[in-house]
Amino acid sequence: MGTDQTTRPATTHFGYREVPAAEKQKLVGEVFSSVAGRYDLMNDLMSLGIHRVWKRYYVATAPVKRGDRVLDLAGGTGDIAALLRDRVGETGEIVLGDINGAMLRTGRDRMTDRGNVRGFEYVQCNAEALPFPDASFDLVTIAFGLRNVTDKDAALAEMRRVLKVGGQARVLEFSEVKAEWFKPVYDFHSFNILPRLGKLFANDAGSYQYLAESIRKHPSQEALKGMMEAAGFDRCSYRNLSGGIVAIHMGYRV
Ligand code: SAM
Repeated sequence: MGTDQTTRPATTHFGYREVPAAEKQKLVGEVFSSVAGRYDLMNDLMSLGIHRVWKRYYVATAPVKRGDRVLDLAGGTGDIAALLRDRVGETGEIVLGDINGAMLRTGRDRMTDRGNVRGFEYVQCNAEALPFPDASFDLVTIAFGLRNVTDKDAALAEMRRVLKVGGQARVLEFSEVKAEWFKPVYDFHSFNILPRLGKLFANDAGSYQYLAESIRKHPSQEALKGMMEAAGFDRCSYRNLSGGIVAIHMGYRV
């Protein structure tokens, strides 16, 4: 990565392509605007429904209670926010934040259709610069979102800033597969099946090629844990699911 006069890198990766850092957000925006309408169907097809199990586990094990206020960042079509509803109850509040208007609209319509109305707020925002005061949430979640953020360190720092003391940030993201024997199978699925499914069901092979590449460029389990520590989180840890296909990272604000 090149650097400019400040400490921010001048270029970054968009999948396997090196692009000007200022352009990544727009490119990621195009991916999600393109797939928003088919996003949920594609998730089921690509993961054979397993993403639902990961998300359920992620929310079920979150340290949250009735009446809590939660921020679900990169909330997209609302899977995590809908699951959080059962955890925080009628008296809780869930703010679904996402940078992409198309994903946010799809999410809001889907939630409304399912009767999830009271206690939800939708905010179009960039994870790197959150429009919320310090210490305003009991829990901050970001599922399959951090990978797409240009300045991940800034996003982690913002997640910590908006957490109340004692609150937890929780990242669910694709990670590094651990079993050597599984890697070729996983690579075949990622680079041969995913783009074809994308072409067939979302008329967009490129976005799913980006998905496969962006997973490979995302920091490993240990590297992300280190980034959370550097952002000031305390008691950072992670748990692999499905042999490291995804991992849940956790850190507290103390
Ligand atoms: N969390 C949802 C889920 O698990 O199904 C959606 C995940 S989707 C793969 C990634 C989401 O991240 C998209 O809705 C995209 O618009 C959002 N996103 C990407 N960059 C972002 C940023 N800088 N700030 C906030 N949201 C962002």
